[in-house]
Amino acid sequence: MSSSSRWPAGPRRVLVVGIDGVRLDLLPELNTPHLDAVAAAGFLAPVEVDDATPTMSGPCWATIATGVTVAKHGVWGNHLGGNRLDVFPDFTTRLAAVHHRRTFAAGGWEPLFLARQGGPLFAAPGRLSYIAPLEDTPEDWEVCDERVTAEAVTVLAGDDDPQASFVYLGAVDETAHFLGCGAEYRRSIEAADARLGRLLAALRARPGYADEEWTVIVVTDHGHVDAGGHGGRSAQERTAWVAACGPGLVPGGAVLPVRHVDVAAQVFAALEIVPDPHWTLDGRPFTPAAELVPQA
Ligand SMILES: [Zn+2]
Repeated sequence: MSSSSRWPAGPRRVLVVGIDGVRLDLLPELNTPHLDAVAAAGFLAPVEVDDATPTMSGPCWATIATGVTVAKHGVWGNHLGGNRLDVFPDFTTRLAAVHHRRTFAAGGWEPLFLARQGGPLFAAPGRLSYIAPLEDTPEDWEVCDERVTAEAVTVLAGDDDPQASFVYLGAVDETAHFLGCGAEYRRSIEAADARLGRLLAALRARPGYADEEWTVIVVTDHGHVDAGGHGGRSAQERTAWVAACGPGLVPGGAVLPVRHVDVAAQVFAALEIVPDPHWTLDGRPFTPAAELVPQA
């Protein structure tokens, strides 16, 4: 095989890191240098979970991964059954099947990656790493996220050379459900940020990094009430966020309002792929506010 066929897709690459259940309002109090670095190189913006979407992990991650709303993907809860993900697949599956790109997805929550609970959301990425927590406890989820991170570092550094990746970290959400949004929750967010740092370091350590153009998107699905828990319509539960940097995004620049459906649109745009209109994506790429037409 020639080297050109091993590296077929040009310099663009995308890494999406999904951190479940991180409250936006607590971030300023926390030590999250790696998320701060992504935000400084691009932006960090609130995302409001729309009125039609339950503030639950299943529907929110489905919207993030597919770029269409619940009305299309049909994931209404944490059991994903009855969905239309065959018609509206996640971006790792779409890019692999239609665009012959190498893609990768990793994490420890079953319905995202396994044929369990109506899943998987990430149906057919080029490479898939499901790493189970031993039990659904905060401690076991920290171990799980640690192993997911180590696995992703290996894959991102290796010969697979995925052009688009999704890495899921679930310990923060588990901690809130068990212990509320107190000290342990805050420590878990900081641990997730340290894992983000290791993923970013893995990109920078790639032999070809200087010639590559990486887009990094960090996203959460929903918030939590103070006591831990979500699914309702309070501002704390509905407020999610996205941070991103990469080609076309202005460092520190404001962006037009960002929605969960925009994440997949940004993934395609970052890879310079124009979505087929038949996909009927509901999102649009992140748009710097500077591109607004000035008002007369
Ligand atoms: Zn969640």
